[in-house]
Amino acid sequence: MFQEKEQFMAKDEIRALQLEKIQKQIKHAYDNVELYRKKFDKIGLKPEDIKTLEDIAKVPFTVKDDLRDHYPYGILAVPLENVHRLHASSGTTGIPTVVSYTENDLNTWSNLMARCYSCAGVTPEDIVQNAYGYGLFTGGLGFHMGAERLGTMVIPTATGNTKRQIRMMKDMKSSVICCTPSYALYLIEALKEEGVDPSELSIKIGMFGAEPWSDETRKHIEKALGIKAQDLYGMSELYGPGVAVECPEQNGLHIWSDEFYVETIDTDTGEVLPPGEKGEIVFTMLSREAMPLLRYRTKDLAVINWEKCTCGRSHPRIMRIKGRSDDMLIVGGVNVFPSQIEDILVGIEELGEQFQIVLETTKLDNLHVQVEVAPQFWGKLDLKELAQKVSTQLQESLTLRARIELLEPGTIPRTQGKAKRVIDNRKKI
Ligand code: ADP
Ligand code: ZN
Repeated sequence: MFQEKEQFMAKDEIRALQLEKIQKQIKHAYDNVELYRKKFDKIGLKPEDIKTLEDIAKVPFTVKDDLRDHYPYGILAVPLENVHRLHASSGTTGIPTVVSYTENDLNTWSNLMARCYSCAGVTPEDIVQNAYGYGLFTGGLGFHMGAERLGTMVIPTATGNTKRQIRMMKDMKSSVICCTPSYALYLIEALKEEGVDPSELSIKIGMFGAEPWSDETRKHIEKALGIKAQDLYGMSELYGPGVAVECPEQNGLHIWSDEFYVETIDTDTGEVLPPGEKGEIVFTMLSREAMPLLRYRTKDLAVINWEKCTCGRSHPRIMRIKGRSDDMLIVGGVNVFPSQIEDILVGIEELGEQFQIVLETTKLDNLHVQVEVAPQFWGKLDLKELAQKVSTQLQESLTLRARIELLEPGTIPRTQGKAKRVIDNRKKI
């Protein structure tokens, strides 16, 4: 197993290492980044004041806007000539968030990703086909470097050209596929169209991440492809993919806590929440050189489980990410995440996997859900009756009133990367 010792560190060992690393990291940030120095000085906090892990609660939060405000080079803590790589997040919501890496940072990231593969059950004998996007997006290179570090063969197919993707899977006998869960769903359809039976393929494990997906979707992918579908979490600010991954128990994603100190906070008050409570996940990176991040607010909402896993690992687990605080829709006074709607829809046999939530008017009460009918049911059932059934289930489970529009299979645009589940056509004020 890759970095077996790190994977199976005991809780006490992790905590001791965390304190040692965090004290060093806080000093590095304070000494080299004006943003941190200003934030600390404003409240009269000195790096030496952090004497225990509990003291970390005194450190001010860092948010995405702090990074954007320091565009283009972000909050660099090293001279520019020591930076070996830049990545940037998609930036669909404004100025892109640029992230930078020193040689050591790239090395740490590669190790973390290799550890993720290993934890998920991948071995050096495997053949990894990487269908994440290469480029500024951290997915492609992150999965690529990790596979190389583990010692597997890696085929950098990247996104797109699904026919070639399938051909490679078949001819090269790829045993691991890396892509977003939405692309995995699309691949399943494409295999059908190409007349390829998944049993002709050698795929055993899927490394799926970069967007929220439900347990129902997992079951569907596992059954359709005959594989183990493993969830993996990360974000560009925290190197990229590789922060947390599922072990074969598939009961939460282990956060590599010798590199990331994790807290859960109340989104509104910023208070640290007791273990087991759902809140916003906050990370402190423990050895990032180029761009140290202290108490970085991810906006991702989840529950952290601190109990030792049945796999023997003590690294805390993120129980599936339910969504982001800024994804939450408020419909007629009900708070709802797209992932909750997805959970209901995938549970209805007659429906396909593709859906979109369309927000039409400024009146949020008017929620419109478009969902495809499963191909084997199309033309064979009463659409009105089915729409009624879907609407009743949403109403019963989420107390949500929605207009349901059933679509012919294949009508909703497929994506190679992250799915776009919410289409907001409301007038911007
Ligand atoms: P962007 O999408 O802005 O370009 P990233 O690719 O860094 O930036 O996206 C990171 C975000 O993707 C996370 O904060 C989280 O919301 C989402 N994400 C990543 N992996 C997962 C996962 N396994 N489950 C749910 N959400 C995920
Ligand atoms: Zn485990």
